[in-house]
Amino acid sequence: MWLLVLPGVILVVVYSIVYGSKSRGSGRFIWHYISRYGGYLVPIGYIGLMGYFFYEFHRHCLPLLQSATHRLWIPLNYPIPIVTIIWGVLSDPGLITRANHAKVMSVYPYDRILFMPMNECRTCHFEKPARSRHCSTCNGCIALADHHCLFLNRCIGANNYKQFMAFLFTTLYIFIYGGIVTSSILLRLIPDLLEQGHRGRDLFRSILRVGRGYRAAACMLILCVLLGIINVVFIAAQVKYIYVGATTNEVTKWEDVNELMDEGKLYMYELPAETKQSIVLQRLSDGTWHRSLNSQEQQLVSKYKAPLVQITSHESVHNIYDEGFRRNLKTRLCSPNWK
Ligand SMILES: [Zn+2]
Ligand SMILES: [Zn+2]
Repeated sequence: MWLLVLPGVILVVVYSIVYGSKSRGSGRFIWHYISRYGGYLVPIGYIGLMGYFFYEFHRHCLPLLQSATHRLWIPLNYPIPIVTIIWGVLSDPGLITRANHAKVMSVYPYDRILFMPMNECRTCHFEKPARSRHCSTCNGCIALADHHCLFLNRCIGANNYKQFMAFLFTTLYIFIYGGIVTSSILLRLIPDLLEQGHRGRDLFRSILRVGRGYRAAACMLILCVLLGIINVVFIAAQVKYIYVGATTNEVTKWEDVNELMDEGKLYMYELPAETKQSIVLQRLSDGTWHRSLNSQEQQLVSKYKAPLVQITSHESVHNIYDEGFRRNLKTRLCSPNWK
């Protein structure tokens, strides 16, 4: 029975992990407590669960397979998701320290839309480099910060995106392969059961009654399909973010910028294109600005006599970090040499 309840429990936890950081409801509540107190329990639990399923599969499902090739090949795959999650858990996301701060600062310019200069991290006590983010769970600022991953119990940043993608793709491979193998076990059984007159819900109950191997295969197939779909959605989101040249953190910030633009609260100084600079300001409800210009910005505005105009089109706000899909992908996968 618990094998049937398990997919639901896992779905709630995964939903909370994936969407909890953005929502304000129960997902946020569960995400907050898992991230604060869960720590390494999530990756350890994941490894334990994977280990248990592989054990169940090896003992009860593997003997039901007719293909000798699959019976030989499948056990070689058991360590793959476990090795990739350990690789991710032990990875350095790109923690910014006093020693590498100057190098990290030189990698990306401030776009003055999402990332402003002279913005000090109140915990780390240094100027936050462009594209970085402070993570209270990791207790540090992370270079090229994407998001805090509960499965790996650390942030995903400049140095460990490849470990994160390896984790996502190997897990997807296991779900797809597992789905194919468990389906092939069940499909051999179904014609006989149909011949005996079993249909619909009765057919499902009959599969569960045939034996432990078939019961385990049915439950694993449900898990593989559900978790595989979630995995595909997550990978698709990452591919989209690479395409637009933004991290998960930046996508959230762009959503806020777009919202302000739609409300007519976003203004910018029109600087010539050769400056490769944009100065964006947010007008507050009382007519004042959310920040004042620093001395460098004041010099730019007076030098080019730049007019202040309201941003009405999304095309006016350019993402300076977008260098095309291939270069964006290369940036994310290849750790910069700043250690
Ligand atoms: Zn910090
Ligand atoms: Zn973190």
